[in-house]
Amino acid sequence: MKEGWEAVIGLEVHAQLNTDSKIFCACSTQFGQEPNENTCPVCLGLPGALPVLNREAVSNAGKAALALNLHINEESIFARKNYFYPDLPKGYQISQYDKPFSEHGAVEILTSERDEGGRPTEWQLKRFRITRAHIEEDAGKSVHDLGDPSKSHVNLNRAGTPLLEIVSEPDFRTSWEAYDYVGFLRRTLQYIGVCDGNMEEGNLRCDANVSVRPAGQEKLGTRAEIKNVNSLRFLQKAIDYEIDRQISLIEAGGVIVQETRLWNEKEGKTYTMRSKEDAHDYRYFPEPDLPPLEVSSEWVETLKAELPELPEARRQRFMREYELNADEAFTLTGERALAEYFETAANAAQNHRAAANWILSELLRELKNAEIDISACKISAADLGGLIRLIDDKTISGKIAKDVFADMFATGKAPGDIVKEKGLVQITDTGAIEKIVDEVIAANPKPVENYRAGKTALMGFFVGQVLKASGGKANPAAVNEILKQKLDG
Ligand SMILES: [Zn+2]
Repeated sequence: MKEGWEAVIGLEVHAQLNTDSKIFCACSTQFGQEPNENTCPVCLGLPGALPVLNREAVSNAGKAALALNLHINEESIFARKNYFYPDLPKGYQISQYDKPFSEHGAVEILTSERDEGGRPTEWQLKRFRITRAHIEEDAGKSVHDLGDPSKSHVNLNRAGTPLLEIVSEPDFRTSWEAYDYVGFLRRTLQYIGVCDGNMEEGNLRCDANVSVRPAGQEKLGTRAEIKNVNSLRFLQKAIDYEIDRQISLIEAGGVIVQETRLWNEKEGKTYTMRSKEDAHDYRYFPEPDLPPLEVSSEWVETLKAELPELPEARRQRFMREYELNADEAFTLTGERALAEYFETAANAAQNHRAAANWILSELLRELKNAEIDISACKISAADLGGLIRLIDDKTISGKIAKDVFADMFATGKAPGDIVKEKGLVQITDTGAIEKIVDEVIAANPKPVENYRAGKTALMGFFVGQVLKASGGKANPAAVNEILKQKLDG
């Protein structure tokens, strides 16, 4: 950011809550159906149709609120947010306004600026406040006919899908803080199973309010809202672009107008979409067709008990307990199944460093090559731990272990069985190794002469020859020691 300026960023995230049916009717929420197949009088907004609240949507919202340290209000009120749009047949959206489902939350997350290559520079623990998270319904979709620009269609399959709108305080100062926060939200919601978090499919959508002010100034600048960015990276780039645009405009004597802007990824710019409306433009009033939503403290306690360890807490625990660095812990907690796999393997191996290394290098690479995820992996976490134990107790060498690993990955067999079947047990018997060393020395008189004349770098050659002659089974440490004795002595 330009010297002397500060950016102030607030984020609104819309998360589609995982439910089988819509929030106020029994229509399916299944994605990819025929246009307008998942509709009924309620979500079409036909006169006389009455909404009934989906209990599962409220449970999911409750879990999300608890995961974000929000206070769940015992009573919240649904309100009508009035506006006209073709994909909103009722002429209003059922949302919540002055009495939201939950409020006053905060999260502490690891965040870092990135260098030119996109690598984190320094992870810091920062606290960001969450103003509120309220429940509302999604609108439908306008589909513009690309073949015939004179035609537009409306698909109401999405109308009435339950959403949780998570509104932050304007606590973010850089685009990377916003990036890390939305990434954190996405992982957390996925972890607790309340949202798929797929930004490309619009399952999780993010709007960013961005303003700038001279560093040290209290008063906020006029903000522009960037709407519906469909990837984390685009969000980060859009915010950076918007910060630069506003600073340049003010420095050139211009004035920022309050407006909604859209990000164009191809051109790397934001564009004016419409002038931004204020809350009073929506004429909010309580929804007369729904009673207040009341939840008991017992219900909240039940939800609490159902929550798993959350990804950020787990990441920080992995750093403490397993001495992983922030990047390693981040990768290993990225998916719940992977985090659980690591812990099981680390415990089975009794060597958490080795378990982390095997997973972060070999296993993730092979999964990527095979285009499968951890849940489809044939190597059980316990067997990976078993493989590491075979190395640590010197049954097999690290080199042989890679071959055993490849075999395990392909067949799912236990490492001990593969070692036994293929006769891969490491040779640690010094007598047997000595014999091979003698053969290698006898077969290579010229290198031996050169070595003894001072070319000690040839040691690597001899080690290689002995390992090869042993079929990779000779213990490398023993080989080194015996070779040294025989060549030097
Ligand atoms: Zn319906």
